[in-house]
Amino acid sequence: MPYQAGQRLSGESASKLGHLDVLNSEFVNQVVEQFEHPDASSITSPDIDWFEVDKFARPLKYIFASDGSLQHLASSGNPKREVSFVKTALMRIDPTKIEQIDPDYPHPNQLRKLMSESAQHHATVFPVKNIRIHGTDWLYGMRKLIYDSFRDPQLDGEPYKTLKWVVYQKWEEGTKSNSPAFECPECYAELPGMKYDTDQIECPECQSVIFLTDIIGLHMEMSEDSASETLASAYMMIHETMMLFTAIRYLWQKNHHVLKETLFLKDGPLTLRGQYSKLVPNLRNFISKAKSIGVTIHLCGQEKTGKFVDFFKGYAHLVEPLEKGAPSRFSPLTHKFIHSEVQRKRDPKYPYGFRTNYGEKVLLKQSPHHLFVLNIPTGQYLDNENKPNRREDLIGVDRIMATIPKILSYRHESALVPIELVNGIASLSNYPSATVLKLFSGLE
Ligand SMILES: [Zn+2]
Repeated sequence: MPYQAGQRLSGESASKLGHLDVLNSEFVNQVVEQFEHPDASSITSPDIDWFEVDKFARPLKYIFASDGSLQHLASSGNPKREVSFVKTALMRIDPTKIEQIDPDYPHPNQLRKLMSESAQHHATVFPVKNIRIHGTDWLYGMRKLIYDSFRDPQLDGEPYKTLKWVVYQKWEEGTKSNSPAFECPECYAELPGMKYDTDQIECPECQSVIFLTDIIGLHMEMSEDSASETLASAYMMIHETMMLFTAIRYLWQKNHHVLKETLFLKDGPLTLRGQYSKLVPNLRNFISKAKSIGVTIHLCGQEKTGKFVDFFKGYAHLVEPLEKGAPSRFSPLTHKFIHSEVQRKRDPKYPYGFRTNYGEKVLLKQSPHHLFVLNIPTGQYLDNENKPNRREDLIGVDRIMATIPKILSYRHESALVPIELVNGIASLSNYPSATVLKLFSGLE
């Protein structure tokens, strides 16, 4: 990065590539040449299988979407205090309601009414700098803050109940599973997992109180005396996932018929990295259990930025449909293709997404101008580098694809209305919201 302009000296301007000595290298020259003069004819369509969207599949009747936002706030004055403000939202919006909105000029009052009737949000705050927690030590205080935030009484503790449902795999009636194994946050002792349905235990080694939320491992993002912004963003990611699964859990417990007719949309990939990946096997177990008894969970994540989006944009002009009205097509990306062509990794240690993903990458070219990178679950991980490669591998893909045209946004490129709306709720500081249970009224 060039120096910033000071008061007396003018700033350094960014040097042009042409001034670099390394240009003597033949390979560097090739790179620079392609950067400056892209050769469109050298881009070829990658060797992947495309499937036409099934035009006879029925669109889903109901939609839930979740999203989160993160704001970093700093005080003025001395000492400078900093906090991270996290908000997550869950929204129910049905395709028939979306059709009533003017796609080009949606009326703000109409949108506001829709949101207040059908959205629920959660907010909490994390100390980042120069904020003390009185009467207790820092680590314990932060762990308690995370525990209390999850149990947010405004949401009747519903996302917390969902976390418990996932941790103890409560969909398996009759089996009382323990939680996944984890490390004591205070003394680092290996704990075999908490007993079915417990909220708190005492560490057998150091006698500290351990909360159910400690299993997630958010405290690992903290340093000695401060929380980091990564703690807040990890909390947001876990919480928005639990918000969406709250809708799934509710319908699983109350009404399988409606559950099968619902699209669950998540802003972002179906991925939990690092210590959070210990929840991934449980999520996969649920989705495949539901499938095994004939309950298709239509779950879909949309990646709006990142490697896969850039990759798709780079060659989408070579892929059908090239004309308006031509059939939409999708392509599941195999683990092998992702490693070699998208990530360009040689000899990766694990198969792609093996530990972290509960959805596979699927490209969708809806129309010449609507490109989507979606994540769709397969249930259990398909441990084969040539998978997924069939439409049957992706759970509920046909009805998910049939629903997309009903919820396309014309305000932004490759955007979906429910994600746009839930994004609006999650990023506004104050919004009227319904109670969680109200979201489920009128479903039959
Ligand atoms: Zn301990």
